[in-house]
Amino acid sequence: MLFDAKSKRHVQPKKSARKTVLVTAMCALLLAGCSDEQPPTEYKTTAYVFGTLVDITIRGTDTQSAEAAVADLSAGFQELHNDWHAWKPLGELAAINGACKSGETVTVGDNTLIALQKAKDFEISSHGLFNAALGRVIGLWGFHSDTLPKGEKPPFDQIDALVAQSPSMADIRITGHDVTCMNPAVSLDFGGFGKGLALDWALDRLQSKGIANALINAGGDVSSMGHYAEADTGRPWRIGIRHPKTWGVLASVDVDHDEAVYTSGNYERYNEQDGIRYSHIIDPRNGRAVQSIVSSTVIHTNSALADAAATALSVAGLRDWPQIAADMGVSQVMVVDETGHMYATPDMRARLIFGSETKPEITVVPLPTASPKSAVAQ
Ligand code: AMP
Ligand code: MG
Repeated sequence: MLFDAKSKRHVQPKKSARKTVLVTAMCALLLAGCSDEQPPTEYKTTAYVFGTLVDITIRGTDTQSAEAAVADLSAGFQELHNDWHAWKPLGELAAINGACKSGETVTVGDNTLIALQKAKDFEISSHGLFNAALGRVIGLWGFHSDTLPKGEKPPFDQIDALVAQSPSMADIRITGHDVTCMNPAVSLDFGGFGKGLALDWALDRLQSKGIANALINAGGDVSSMGHYAEADTGRPWRIGIRHPKTWGVLASVDVDHDEAVYTSGNYERYNEQDGIRYSHIIDPRNGRAVQSIVSSTVIHTNSALADAAATALSVAGLRDWPQIAADMGVSQVMVVDETGHMYATPDMRARLIFGSETKPEITVVPLPTASPKSAVAQ
């Protein structure tokens, strides 16, 4: 099992891991006392996770330990890649998706069990706007492919027929490790939160190997642990938020306390027809590509939640994103509309850093009170 669902990033460092951190810290102190030699402070490498190149930076650890800790990640990443692939027959998600057609029951491992439960929770808290059961619709749009759709018109009649069958995580029944899919219109796709969940796991794993300061950047979605500088000076990591149109940096934030910054945007993957870009983010209510928000960014200590919320807020649109943010439990949000105008919650606005030449106008949007639990639930 890769995950343990307890800490803010799912894994409480196990006793042995805590001990490792302590021993490493003691050794560091001893070494500092014995020698003037400073250990190299930065180790950088690149890994391939879920089809994306991922930059991993580790600071304040000697190169050998950093290398060993990163090497340890690759088997886990591969396992998650296979188990959660949405369209290739590589693992457990494919098995469940097959069972949605055959009605058979599939037995899954702990990682997929945790992901399924999270997908159910996110669907409930987002009032159904985050829907990891929408894989068949996403496939009809042409996004279940390693290459971008080549402008073919999606089969809207088939999409409408699927949406009418209301595919939902509620159709996935779980008993122990046995999973039964009750709706043939369901096909699971963890694309909206799987990367966040995988990076939560990766940071916990690094922490268990004695790493205190790490940053993982997966194509602009960033999960962090510790600080940029040594823990005693406490300098935070600085992270750029992508500009949805120019690929430059829209704004930066300093992150600390193990925060993650996730952005969803219609510029990442899209199906272009007649000059119009149809985003890979789909509104489960009508099966259509979302339009009014071109990018949404969420900061939270839980990467899976930041990832899922960024996707859900893109679906929510300009009117409803504040309520969905409140109900999903995220208070640091920025969205950008089609004209490029920026909106931010007060908690996010207070953190945005701009270069001296760029001072965009930002509408500050306080979040409403979260809906009572009963209004959000089942
Ligand atoms: P992200 O870049 O995190 O916003 O994830 C986008 C991916 O999430 C898409 O490529 C789909 O695989 C999946 N997706 C699209 N629409 C939804 C939705 N409404 N709810 C959950 N996942 C979605
Ligand atoms: Mg997402």
